[in-house]
Amino acid sequence: MATIIRGGEVIDPKNVKGFFDILIENGKISKILKPGESIPEVTIDQTIDAKGLIVVPGLIDMHVHLREPGHEYKETIESGCKAAVSGGITAVCSMPNTNPVNDNRQTTEFIIRRAKEAGYAKVYPAAAISPGLKGSSLCEYGELKDAGAVAVTDDGRPVENGQLMRRALEYAKGFGLTVISHCEDMTLAAGGCMNEGEVSTRMGLSGIPNISESIMVMRDAGLCELTGGKLHIAHVSTKESVEAIREAKKKGVNITAETTPHYFTLTDKAVKGYNTFAKMNPPLRSAEDREAMRSALADGTIDAIATDHAPHSSLEKDVEFNFADNGIVGLETSLSLSLKLVHDKVIDMETLVERMSSAPAKILGLESGIKIGNPADITIIDMDKELIIDSANFASKSNNTPFNGMELKGKAVYTLVDGNVVYRDNGAS
Ligand SMILES: [Zn+2]
Repeated sequence: MATIIRGGEVIDPKNVKGFFDILIENGKISKILKPGESIPEVTIDQTIDAKGLIVVPGLIDMHVHLREPGHEYKETIESGCKAAVSGGITAVCSMPNTNPVNDNRQTTEFIIRRAKEAGYAKVYPAAAISPGLKGSSLCEYGELKDAGAVAVTDDGRPVENGQLMRRALEYAKGFGLTVISHCEDMTLAAGGCMNEGEVSTRMGLSGIPNISESIMVMRDAGLCELTGGKLHIAHVSTKESVEAIREAKKKGVNITAETTPHYFTLTDKAVKGYNTFAKMNPPLRSAEDREAMRSALADGTIDAIATDHAPHSSLEKDVEFNFADNGIVGLETSLSLSLKLVHDKVIDMETLVERMSSAPAKILGLESGIKIGNPADITIIDMDKELIIDSANFASKSNNTPFNGMELKGKAVYTLVDGNVVYRDNGAS
């Protein structure tokens, strides 16, 4: 089986840039050719016309809640992976707060097997730091890595015990695993349900201060420096966290970070009307924090864009704001919202590829990039295609997005995983 992608502009700053045709044989990139260069010895089964389109290495979302096993009414591995490729994402890192928790070999292997059966995006599981996410002891990292885990995290909750976090960084280091930290001081968050500020005061809702996040970023950066481990900060939302990460990087600490499209697009004003689709943890912050996310993405203080895709049903969201579960879906809106940063000249396209593909691959130790011999995981983007976000058309089982009805420009029109077209936009030629 041979496929050729013809006439597109290839943007992969680490490997290749310019107008090239890409030949795919047996699921791998076999040749990168000058436009129109002939390849007489190969029978082409499929030609994708990428004229006027941008061809990039498959996007990798390193923070996704797939909900299976345990909460299949919100999302399954299959529906989540289908949602991913619909958004141009060819691989996701799945969070371990499932039921049972992914703190053991069987669950890690189950997730990988189900993803292979589904046949859409690739899934690289993150396993738990501590059994049951309880924060009292450490899981068997060697066994989890052997089963296919690419990182460890107790995401959804912080590792409150500093000693345990220290040991996790030391232990994970021995296996080359990244520790992903959900940074939150629960005593400072104090049961709040939105950002602490003018909006929370006016709405009479209890607020979560910026420092509940940044103080834990500082602790973990310090522990990372002490242990020489590999630390990744999940879903950064505050300017103070950005400053702490910037300082740690300056000192040469092995720290990386991600933020999400909602933190660089929205502010806590989106909560007005008690909109539970704008409720997440960490919460949407101020305009100043949003600005800090944008400049940190531009200057590289924040390495990656991830979604924290968190599907919920109306059971969890169609309730009083205080009682609603945290989180929004993100897989099918992430690229278009990030392309808005490119259209608005906050970042260029090379930086977008770095934040959405090369950096997450590097942090998780994955193979990626448009390079001969690599798996043909490729996203083809129409920069100018206009769209209105419509959650009724999502492949995800859930529709909890605050972006419904938003008009955007640019989306994935083809998604290829191992050379197979796993998503094709209706309007694509
Ligand atoms: Zn989290």
